Amino acid sequence: MSKKPTPSKKQCPSSTGSRHGTYVRNARQRMQDELVLDTCKKCGATKRRHFACQECGWYGDKKIFDVSQKKNVPSQEIQA
Ligand SMILES: [Zn+2]
Repeated sequence: MSKKPTPSKKQCPSSTGSRHGTYVRNARQRMQDELVLDTCKKCGATKRRHFACQECGWYGDKKIFDVSQKKNVPSQEIQA
């Protein structure tokens, strides 16, 4: 037999959803806080750190994509 106490009442769906909503809201805030911006060394534009520059397509000394051909391509993450 389990030694865990049995809950006296079944938890209603709204309180479960409220707790889940709080978790999602806090997780989104944490992700926004971790967004680190940097300046591109090639063109000087503001870009995300560890991501290729969206203005010129360069990441450090490597050219990741051609800006003139791929104008609406999502950001390409670099695994460092
Ligand atoms: Zn750039």
